Amino acid sequence: MRLVLLGAPGSGKGTQAARLKSYLEVPHISTGDLLRAEVAAGSPLGLQAKEVMARGDLVSDEILLGMLKDRFSRDDTRDGFILDGYPRNLAQAAALGELLTSLGQQFDAAVQLDVDNELLIERLAGRAQAEGRADDNPDSVRKRLKVYDDQTAPVIEFYRQQDQLTVVDGVGTLDEVFDRILAAIKVSRTPG
Ligand code: ADP
Repeated sequence: MRLVLLGAPGSGKGTQAARLKSYLEVPHISTGDLLRAEVAAGSPLGLQAKEVMARGDLVSDEILLGMLKDRFSRDDTRDGFILDGYPRNLAQAAALGELLTSLGQQFDAAVQLDVDNELLIERLAGRAQAEGRADDNPDSVRKRLKVYDDQTAPVIEFYRQQDQLTVVDGVGTLDEVFDRILAAIKVSRTPG
């Protein structure tokens, strides 16, 4: 199964992607996690990305594509993946299409977790307290939601027009949302 998981900050993408990874037994590729690992390692790329991420802006398309190509060059992505956090703008959507084509692959579905803005803000405020992520402060949250509306919403429209989009209601318990995703991608809850 090759999935692209789309959703605003706080929509629950990362949490659901981690569950899907164990359930579907395919790697979870989170561009946010890859970037945070670079920041934590203090690599040149991490040093470049750190400030940009902290203020809630997008890291350059070039850096992202380099990281993504590198990740997809590993064998474990051959039979499936859950891509979380990419693409975030139309240029990245085009780059992803080209990358997958060059690998002789196509994704099976782009799943958007739909959660309204008020609840997103509430969830991110809760996460800021619980996890202390550098970009969960109010200014950065506002910025990330705006970047999402301005740059990522068009990606959703693009996939909708291509008939590749499945929208899943992201409001509910973790189990409810997980079940909805499985239903949307037509995977049965208890295989075998
Ligand atoms: P969230 O969805 O809550 O914002 P992520 O972990 O997906 O969290 O992303 C955190 C930050 O990492 C983003 O705000 C951005 O700065 C950077 N980032 C992640 N993915 C991308 C991407 N595809 N393009 C550019 N920047 C990205």
